[in-house]
Amino acid sequence: MSQIDYQQVLDEITKEVQPLLSQGKVADYIPALAEVEPNQFAIAIHTVDGQTYCAGDCGARFTIQSVSKVMTLTLALQRYGDELWQRVGKEPSGTAFNSLTQLEFEQGIPRNPFINAGAIVTCDALYSRLSAPMHSMLESFRQLSGNAQVVIDKKVANSEYEFRHRNAAMAHLMKSFGNFNNEVDDVLWAYFNFCAIELNCVELAKAYNYLANQGKDANGNKVLSARQNKQLNSLLFTSGLYDAAGDFGYRVGMPGKSGVSGTILAVLPNQFTVAVWAPRLNSYGNSVAGIAALERLSQKLDISIF
Ligand code: GLU
Repeated sequence: MSQIDYQQVLDEITKEVQPLLSQGKVADYIPALAEVEPNQFAIAIHTVDGQTYCAGDCGARFTIQSVSKVMTLTLALQRYGDELWQRVGKEPSGTAFNSLTQLEFEQGIPRNPFINAGAIVTCDALYSRLSAPMHSMLESFRQLSGNAQVVIDKKVANSEYEFRHRNAAMAHLMKSFGNFNNEVDDVLWAYFNFCAIELNCVELAKAYNYLANQGKDANGNKVLSARQNKQLNSLLFTSGLYDAAGDFGYRVGMPGKSGVSGTILAVLPNQFTVAVWAPRLNSYGNSVAGIAALERLSQKLDISIF
């Protein structure tokens, strides 16, 4: 396609999704998340050649929640390579993001690194190899997003920790099967802090641009090998939106990762990353307007990885 006017497309989408901004419900199982003004919307594209486009509430920051799981996996793959897959699987779960049931059947090995159990065990692996996990994670986001001031929303992190029972149950169950090496509460505290990292859509699209760029950051440095990057994108396609991954893949045609703050990151390999944010969620815990916006983007630009 020649000369795409990304800005115009994003502006159009932002207008079109306005009626959807009142649909769905903000996540309230983490009390601090429920305090967000619910009808906001932003969408940003960052291309592999370094151009940024944004429409809507571009400066608004939100906690990235489960989109942080992609960085957790990235940092763990850097340190463990394929050895990591002894502790976490690669299959879609078909169950909710916070489901406990499969863990029992599968002997404490979570189905994939994007459901909560999988991200928590990946965090445990990372915790064993980092002396200051929160610092390392923040530094990764600071460097890759180009904003040296990225912070953790401590109110959200504390709120998640206070209401951690379900995630703690998963971690303890994994420990009972021998698939957890550190203190549960220490790892959970790191995990919640990762989820509570605050970015806006522009920073989010930029930070994860290596996923669209064969694993390389904006300076051409390797974040992941091209092979690992391909593998990570494949897992995002099959599991990034939990039990709605099939519907998202069908409608949007790109690998993606959602978070309960209402953000979704999607990747068009060799072209761009796109980040969207609208806090109200559907029953699967994914942003209503966010999915609609990405579906429109995919239609308007006639894009797909296929
Ligand atoms: N911090 C959230 C949790 O552990 C992440 C879930 C999500 O974003 O899907 O429940």
